[in-house]
Amino acid sequence: MEFIAPELLAYCEDHSSIEDELLQHVKRETFAKVLMPRMLSGHLQGKTLELLVKMLNPKTILEIGTYTGYSGICLARGLGKNGKLITLDINDELEKMVRVFFEKSGLSSKIDYRLGNALDIIPKIEGNFDMVFIDADKANYIKYYELVVERVNPGGIILADNVLWSGKILVEEGKKIDKDTQVILDYNLMVQNDPRVENVLLPIRDGLMLAKKL
Ligand code: SAH
Ligand code: CA
Repeated sequence: MEFIAPELLAYCEDHSSIEDELLQHVKRETFAKVLMPRMLSGHLQGKTLELLVKMLNPKTILEIGTYTGYSGICLARGLGKNGKLITLDINDELEKMVRVFFEKSGLSSKIDYRLGNALDIIPKIEGNFDMVFIDADKANYIKYYELVVERVNPGGIILADNVLWSGKILVEEGKKIDKDTQVILDYNLMVQNDPRVENVLLPIRDGLMLAKKL
């Protein structure tokens, strides 16, 4: 399901700071060589992430789901002098490609890219976070939230991507709900009811839930 008419999307992109050479390269390489290239954040969401980081000025960002590094580069670009990004992915087949992209970004000293199951890695990371971007397997969204929520500093944010799940969150009467859709529904409801956060579901791309820790 497209949420916005293609002409409107093009207009929005034409009036958002440009997607530079490197991000275009990451996008092209991803579409040419990697499975499921539609998972990549893309221009509008990437710029949104970068500007959110610039506005919040987080010291530590945790990204769950690096994929080919598009969103990671956007997040890292927003960081200030002492900021760092920890980004996690289970797929080591992409590692070489992603490391090259991070090198090209000139930001690899700010990026701590770790491979493995995020469920195992997160408890081993020391310290708190100022921003978390949940964008890995949907089945574990609630677990990721539970693992990080008490470790997000007051004023920090937890973003979760794909919370409109291509529109599948609008469940038709009598239709069976698949597992991932159910988790997204549960996730959105859980955040909505969590008194620890203030939240807004932004209809950007496939839906971005922004929850600010009180
Ligand atoms: N954030 C990226 C897209 C991420 S796609 C962007 O916007 O450009 C989702 C990624 O989550 C995939 O690369 C997949 O390998 C990873 N993933 C899935 N399950 C995971 C897990 N248990 N731990 C860590 N990463 C996982
Ligand atoms: Ca995503």
